[in-house]
Amino acid sequence: MKPNQEAVRWLLKPLELEQRLGFLDTAVAGGMKRWLPQVRDKLMAQAGLTAAEAGRLLEGLEAYAEARSDQRERLVAEVWSRLAGPKAPEPKATPAAAPAAPARPIVPLRRSDKCESPAAGMSPPAMRKAHGRSGTPAPSVAGGFQWQDPVQYIKGVGPQRAKLFANLGVHTAEDLLRHYPRDWQDRRSPAKIAILRHGQTALVDGRVKARQTFTVRRGLKITKVVLEDGTGHIAATWFNQPYLMERFQNGQRVLAYGKVEFHRSWQVLNPDYEILEDETEESIHTGRIVPIYPLTERLSQRVVRSLVHALVGQIPDDWPDPLPPALTAEKSFAPAAQALRSIHFPPDQDSLARARARLVFEELFLQQIAVVRLKRRYQHQHSQPLQVNGPLAARFRQNLPFALTTAQERATQEICRDLGLARPMHRLLQGDVGSGKTIVAALAMLAAADSGRQAALMAPTEILAGQHYLNLKPLLEPLGLRLELFTSGLPAKAKAGLRADLASGRIHLAVGTHALTQAGVEFSDLGLAVVDEQHRFGVEQRSLLRAKGEHPHVLVMTATPIPRTLALTVYGDLDVSVLDELPPGRIPVHTEWLRRSAGRKAYEQLAQAVAAGQQGFVVFPAIEESEKLDLKALATEYQRLERVFPDCRLGLLHGRLPTPDKERIMAEFAAGRTQILAATTVVEVGVDIPNATVMIIENAERFGLASLHQLRGRVGRSSKPAQCFLIGEPTTEEGKRRLEVMSQVRDGFKLAEEDLALRGPGEFFGLRQHGLPDLKLAHLIRDADQIEAARQAAGGILEADPELSRPEHAALRRIYASLYLEKEQRALAG
Ligand code: ADP
Ligand code: MG
Repeated sequence: MKPNQEAVRWLLKPLELEQRLGFLDTAVAGGMKRWLPQVRDKLMAQAGLTAAEAGRLLEGLEAYAEARSDQRERLVAEVWSRLAGPKAPEPKATPAAAPAAPARPIVPLRRSDKCESPAAGMSPPAMRKAHGRSGTPAPSVAGGFQWQDPVQYIKGVGPQRAKLFANLGVHTAEDLLRHYPRDWQDRRSPAKIAILRHGQTALVDGRVKARQTFTVRRGLKITKVVLEDGTGHIAATWFNQPYLMERFQNGQRVLAYGKVEFHRSWQVLNPDYEILEDETEESIHTGRIVPIYPLTERLSQRVVRSLVHALVGQIPDDWPDPLPPALTAEKSFAPAAQALRSIHFPPDQDSLARARARLVFEELFLQQIAVVRLKRRYQHQHSQPLQVNGPLAARFRQNLPFALTTAQERATQEICRDLGLARPMHRLLQGDVGSGKTIVAALAMLAAADSGRQAALMAPTEILAGQHYLNLKPLLEPLGLRLELFTSGLPAKAKAGLRADLASGRIHLAVGTHALTQAGVEFSDLGLAVVDEQHRFGVEQRSLLRAKGEHPHVLVMTATPIPRTLALTVYGDLDVSVLDELPPGRIPVHTEWLRRSAGRKAYEQLAQAVAAGQQGFVVFPAIEESEKLDLKALATEYQRLERVFPDCRLGLLHGRLPTPDKERIMAEFAAGRTQILAATTVVEVGVDIPNATVMIIENAERFGLASLHQLRGRVGRSSKPAQCFLIGEPTTEEGKRRLEVMSQVRDGFKLAEEDLALRGPGEFFGLRQHGLPDLKLAHLIRDADQIEAARQAAGGILEADPELSRPEHAALRRIYASLYLEKEQRALAG
């Protein structure tokens, strides 16, 4: 029987919430088990059911706590359909589509492990902001405010400063607490005034003897407060802050920290200061190890430090600890609360080091819990095994004009092993520019075809998609397979026809841009999704493609070589195959940095190459994605090239051209009908023209190492020697270093390490897009061994308690959920 809808609506909500929270038994306080008797009573009282009827409706839920997550999913769906009919809770509900949730937790956040409310436990994504650890459940603070409260309501902040804090990513009280210092200054020991030296930065501890403020000239007011410590006196001097006069009284004890100079008299310039009203008062800005915060315009160290100091005083001793007690003990970490206090205001250097060690580990550990969990959940999904090494794959191999490299063979085997399993592959194929990833992808796609299923290959640009299409077509069509190209630029009629054929299965292999992910593009049976140059795509686009099939196998490819520790974090949920070898006969591309005045040489070399029947690129920087592409400047450069090469046929390619033009220009260059291609960075990735041997990059200082390496990879794709000229006038040291590094280093891995060292992990090869929360304290190089340790710890814990349902993991589960659950669900969608 199906009860009256109205009477059971209240019951559906928690089921839906449970589904949204990932079936972790957190939707209701105390878990399903404790909730069931209440539900039974209510069903009897309100829906008029008998005890037996109510029992039948809820059957299965009593075993919920012990069930695995896939079983839980089924249980929820079953109960749902008994209550409300066959429609299960929307399985792919994204957080954005979830019902609007209250702006802040409904129930005060508590630390109790026994009494979890939905709000105190895993707050649903919509309740959280997408920054920092603001979702971390934290105890409410004495005096009524909660750590999730907007920072605006903290005493001393207000709406104006709240806006400034927003620039720093600080929105809530807890965000402010997680706004860690970028540095610390030891301002503990005062120096005797008599022995100060010119140029020294020092702390002066003295009493106010005199003070004055005066105007030196228009726009320059000086305020001096003379301090005396029994050994001598010195003037604390401020510029254009006359109001400071009011703050000081003769006789007060003052600590002043700043640079000491002698100009006619001794002064300490613009010091950070502290007036100690009574001797027992704790100093904030001086007389201790003082935190230095990342700032934004119109927020001063002083203000931020004072606000954080007040918050730190409110941290309760039982601050929730994501690390299970055993782990904390094993690593002899400081307790969570103590670490949080010491990272801001450490009593000594040792406490600071210990606090940092714990917080770094915490960050990395939570991240590893997220990626390892995701990996485990992928492994529990079910998909159809594909037939590997089938007849189509065999014929394809026979037709190849070359033998696969050892690395290609190895990667293909690794991929085939995954494809033959009844769970979806999630593998990254990493190989330097030119290592031959496309063929490996094609072999994987043939496993889908051999199994009578479809495969898709998505590339980031139309040019690259078009090229894959042109290259693969002659290899695949003779096998009786139909390959089609999907881009946004297609005419409506052609588009409709292609879509119909894809949906009916008449198209076997689809190559395209993100147009493949659009609504209306349906596969009849997508068995494998390949994403080329995956770092160019957002997480979103990748899951959209995956969602076009029923847990399809997934292969992502990248030429971005990354060090192992970084791979553990950004690709931690994927298995990795590496092409560590280039096809035989490749000669390293000769690379040279030329000042603009010497640029002639590059063009002479290009002329020689063209005379020898080869081709070349000239690349100009332009920001393709924005409106900023300066077509006029590009046209001027193009005309200059035409004058330099009057006897050559030239092409001009940029991202704003209509698709058919792009295709024609690329095809002409590929066929050798044009000899020189002037282009923007649209040719950066993937373009494969083996006859091109010269690459000239103008204004090379404006490109990052990753782009330069990719661009250089457009030449040297055959056994002919190739050259790359970087023409640039870098103005910064870093810019110079980049061009020097490029001329010396060929190996993508080494370049990646250089890039990491030059720019830091945040900017590194565009990894920001990856979607992992920024690490605030942890450093991907310096803390590399911690990453490994965190990986191990996370793996061990999830092995023993995959759902984190043990009591000692309660805090971990909540914090994890608030930080990562939304991401996990997005990743698993599809
Ligand atoms: P990338 O890894 O940069 O995507 P591609 O797949 O575009 O590299 O391959 C680069 C070039 O090398 C292509 O012209 C391709 O046909 C060729 N190639 C790939 N594998 C081999 C091989 N085993 N032997 C010779 N040439 C190969
Ligand atoms: Mg490629």
